[in-house]
Amino acid sequence: MKSMLWKNWSGSVKFKPNQVFYPSSIEEVVNLVKKANSENKKIRVVGSCHSFTPLISTNDYLLSLDNLNGVISINKEEQIAEVWAGTKLEQLGNELYESGFSQENLGDINVQSIAGAFLTGTHGTGIDHGILSTQIEEMTVVLPSGDLLD
Ligand SMILES: Cc1cc2nc3c(=O)[nH]c(=O)nc-3n(C[C@H](O)[C@H](O)[C@H](O)COP(=O)(O)OP(=O)(O)OC[C@H]3O[C@@H](n4cnc5c(N)ncnc54)[C@H](O)[C@@H]3O)c2cc1C
Repeated sequence: MKSMLWKNWSGSVKFKPNQVFYPSSIEEVVNLVKKANSENKKIRVVGSCHSFTPLISTNDYLLSLDNLNGVISINKEEQIAEVWAGTKLEQLGNELYESGFSQENLGDINVQSIAGAFLTGTHGTGIDHGILSTQIEEMTVVLPSGDLLD
């Protein structure tokens, strides 16, 4: 997609990526990683631009998982939901609620992506609850080589 000026939530970080990609499958993510490698480009992934430090800033490729969103499945017995990394917390809350579930703890707002919240140590409150990433049971990750790791 055509490049434009991107800003984080507070406006303290501004940047113009060379290109922005919105893959709709894991295969497309893998192909993008391989393309970036062959062109000697770096990739940054963006969730909802709510982090305060320049984690998402890049002049190379920006990758958004906005098209990879939603709950994939829920194992009611084990109380484990499989969700796409681009799922925003509000959507996740609504979809879990439809099945009678919720995340055990959340932060102040619900616009973050689940991946962005997990990867920055986002936390809610309460001494009996861990940070959001303690809710992770398993992840599928696309490695810099383009290989998949569970
Ligand atoms: C108004 C406001 C209120 C907030 N309240 C709280 C709070 O109550 N508690 C708290 O702990 N924090 C809070 N935060 C911080 C916020 O939760 C974090 O900054 C969180 O990272 C934002 O998620 P995001 O989806 O916007 O991630 P981004 O800022 O877009 O990205 C964060 C990091 O995650 C990486 N990333 C994102 N998606 C992926 C992916 N799919 N794969 C690999 N890497 C990825 C990015 O590359 C980047 O390094 C708040 C922030 C704001 C602006």
